[in-house]
Amino acid sequence: MDHHVTLIPGDGIGPEVAAATRLVMDAADVGIQWTECAAGARALETHGALLPETTLDAIRSSRVAIKGPITTPVGTGFRSVNVALRQDLDLFAAVRPAKAHPGVPIRHKTVDLVIIRENTEDLYRGIEFERGSEGAQGLREKLRALGGFELPMDAGITVKPISVSGTERIVRFAFEYAKANGRKKITVGHKANVLRYSDGLFLQTIEREEPFIRGSVDYEAVEIDHLTSRLVKDPGGFDVLLLPNLYGDIMSDLCAGLVGGLGLIPGANIGWEYAVFEPVHGSAPDIAGQGKANPIAMILSGALMLRHLGEHAAAENVEWAVDVVLGDGRVRTPDLGGTSTTMEVGEAIAAAVSHWEHGPS
Ligand code: ATP
Repeated sequence: MDHHVTLIPGDGIGPEVAAATRLVMDAADVGIQWTECAAGARALETHGALLPETTLDAIRSSRVAIKGPITTPVGTGFRSVNVALRQDLDLFAAVRPAKAHPGVPIRHKTVDLVIIRENTEDLYRGIEFERGSEGAQGLREKLRALGGFELPMDAGITVKPISVSGTERIVRFAFEYAKANGRKKITVGHKANVLRYSDGLFLQTIEREEPFIRGSVDYEAVEIDHLTSRLVKDPGGFDVLLLPNLYGDIMSDLCAGLVGGLGLIPGANIGWEYAVFEPVHGSAPDIAGQGKANPIAMILSGALMLRHLGEHAAAENVEWAVDVVLGDGRVRTPDLGGTSTTMEVGEAIAAAVSHWEHGPS
């Protein structure tokens, strides 16, 4: 069966890692029909918008997209394209597996974690008031009237909303994911003792729901600062981490550090209707256009996409091929100590994918 997929190459190293990913997906040979669309800084030049309506329409039509990293110009007043996509398509769950790979040295015996990040609420909701703006002034007055809070005249303000409904759907998603993927434990990170009405509500809602949905999956809640130090010391003590938006973002990079870097962590953004797959890393302007970027994070995002499309054997094939190439060690980008280009890594993985017919040996 053919699968329609929207491909957004993105900015910086995006087009390079996207080209390598497309090569690997095509080698997996599951009949993907690609529609390439623009978003990000390049789209601003070509379409006059960071997130053109035609791109959103293409995703709504294909329902599945894979994208490279996208740059949002800083200080231009634009809201982040990544945040806009997650909100406009209601992609409420980010799933980010962080796993050790053969031939990539790590500090611990093994790491095999999945971060599930709430994707639409919290400080990333985009409710911001610039210092000195009419909105900031109005909010200062309102806060004084409502609770006697005095904010300095020169304060900028970002709001942290967390809702019962938003938390209910992410906690259900997390337990369903854990059960469907043979995961044993969910650890929730929070700061409920200080942020009583946002993180506190997140925690209360989860603790009200989890007895009814946990099945045989274990559950614990840990304060985010304590969780960070435990994770760095002993990542083997964790399985699935369920986190509000901002902590999820930060812990994803921490987990990338645990398994060999940002070039290895894939991501899926899932909603009820649409799914958008993307590497966790950003556009890395420092190495863009030089063929140095590691395409594996986006290739593994492609494997998550194949599984989402129901192509389970092809997904396993791609993950196996990545480990074959990493384990062999001869073809690697500089972030993993090699000298190969982005495309050489893509070609090596695509070649391994084509040798799959006998299955993993
Ligand atoms: P953005 O503003 O888009 O988030 P950034 O440069 O601040 O971009 P990242 O792109 O996430 O943040 O990455 C930080 C650094 O990690 C980069 O400067 C780059 O050197 C390295 N890096 C990120 N992704 C990769 C990759 N796929 N391959 C190799 N190095 C990478």
